[in-house]
Amino acid sequence: MQVFLRKGGIREIGGWLVAEQIAPGEFELVGFTVDLEVGTHDRFHSVPSLHTEQLDQLLALNGNRVGRVDYLGEWHSHPTFPPVPSEMDMAAMIDMVENSGPSFAALVIVRLFGTARIEATLTTFQRGLPPVNGRLIIDDAGSETTVSKGEKDQPR
Ligand SMILES: [Zn+2]
Repeated sequence: MQVFLRKGGIREIGGWLVAEQIAPGEFELVGFTVDLEVGTHDRFHSVPSLHTEQLDQLLALNGNRVGRVDYLGEWHSHPTFPPVPSEMDMAAMIDMVENSGPSFAALVIVRLFGTARIEATLTTFQRGLPPVNGRLIIDDAGSETTVSKGEKDQPR
């Protein structure tokens, strides 16, 4: 992700998160889609074909995993302001889980400091419930990143 953030410069970049569920409420990020071209804030209404194509590739690459691998949510960068969801980000995610998309989704906001350090926040959204600040575990080895929803699955 750092490579893309450097390419993005001061433009916002983002895409979809793809994760494997490894335990109830715990997800391991296996990949992400990225759109370097659009560079707008309004990630949630961007043309999805590019992300769908990348998502299909990620699903194919990770077909041998034990847990379910699927779309987990959205990510984008805040290159020029703190990596916390804006009001618009919150509204777009809430609208998605309440009205159109999956009933659960995560939002990761990232910011690159210097050339190597990433700051990131994770917020999770579940239909009918208020947003929750999740716990994001970044593996410093750079090989894997684990995303935790920060709470137990709610009974459906
Ligand atoms: Zn934002």
